[in-house]
Amino acid sequence: MCSIIGYKGNTNASTTMIESLAKMEYRGYDSVGIATAHNNVISLKKGIGKVSEVNNKHRLNELHGNIGIGHTRWATHGKVTIENAHPHSTNKSEIAIVHNGIIKNYEKLRVFLEKENYDFKSETDSEVISNLIQYHLDQSNDFETSIWLTVNQLKGAFSFIVLSNNGTLAAARCDEPLILGIADDGYYISSDVLGFLNHTDEAIFVGNKQFFTIDQFGLKIQDFDRIPVSQRITKVAWEMGSADKGEYEHYTIKEIEEQPKTILKSSEIPEEKLEKIQEIIRGAYNIFFTGSGTSYNSALVARQLFSKFLKIKIEPIMSSEFDFCEDLLGPTSPVIAISQSGESADV
Ligand code: GLU
Repeated sequence: MCSIIGYKGNTNASTTMIESLAKMEYRGYDSVGIATAHNNVISLKKGIGKVSEVNNKHRLNELHGNIGIGHTRWATHGKVTIENAHPHSTNKSEIAIVHNGIIKNYEKLRVFLEKENYDFKSETDSEVISNLIQYHLDQSNDFETSIWLTVNQLKGAFSFIVLSNNGTLAAARCDEPLILGIADDGYYISSDVLGFLNHTDEAIFVGNKQFFTIDQFGLKIQDFDRIPVSQRITKVAWEMGSADKGEYEHYTIKEIEEQPKTILKSSEIPEEKLEKIQEIIRGAYNIFFTGSGTSYNSALVARQLFSKFLKIKIEPIMSSEFDFCEDLLGPTSPVIAISQSGESADV
């Protein structure tokens, strides 16, 4: 699960974006990169490894400019290499993009774009986004139009941010998270509130199938049909900031240490809700637990505990295989879905 960040404001973009990416490290990744625009030129640096390692080696935070985009990649298409790390730019270097998710129809789009003489430097699905925007930009000469046409041609799950060399940012969201932080020092676009929570608690949770631009006139949000969307600013709880690693060396250690507190916190769930859940569990014939990765392992532990203390049959199912269980589900077979991030696509 990667993270994306975008910044446009009155301080140095590279330094602030490096901090933001480090805050979102718990999401897991294999490579890091950022791009900034300064004096109408896009500069780009990337590398393999942790944010601090890549920054120490390639000095990402020395890029100039008050506008930029950044990425930590979790490779889905193409190996873990510098070429495949984001951001991706185009031959003309007029734009660069960072992308979170998967573009399902990238092969078809790549064939089309290659025929039109747009070059590809990576093995990723993401590079079709930058080249497709560049293609539409070349046709229409209008940045906003090129984003709108592009989002309507992409199939799959994506959130992406586009940096234009003229100092404009754009971003789009389809089935992947995208949040806009409104701070005194500028706009932050992020996969996660942790990307900007130490700058602001004011956020716009961008709706699904919406895109926006931030230029010298300000922020403009529209849906994929290009109908303007009103902006609703939400106050984010500062406590969410405790989701970073703090003084712990690993997130896993932190989470294990926090278990006593976390369990006590669950008592804040309203009594009636807890009773309802108990009622459902007691009346169950069998219970399906589903999760991926570590969450699936916790489903296995739950099987032992529930079988021992409740004498109810527990079925732990890997979320990616859950489709096959549909016929087994019934009114006395509740499903308990486990997710650490709340974003695991299969869950
Ligand atoms: N599919 C893209 C890639 O493999 C993005 C992966 C991600 O979300 O980090 O580069």
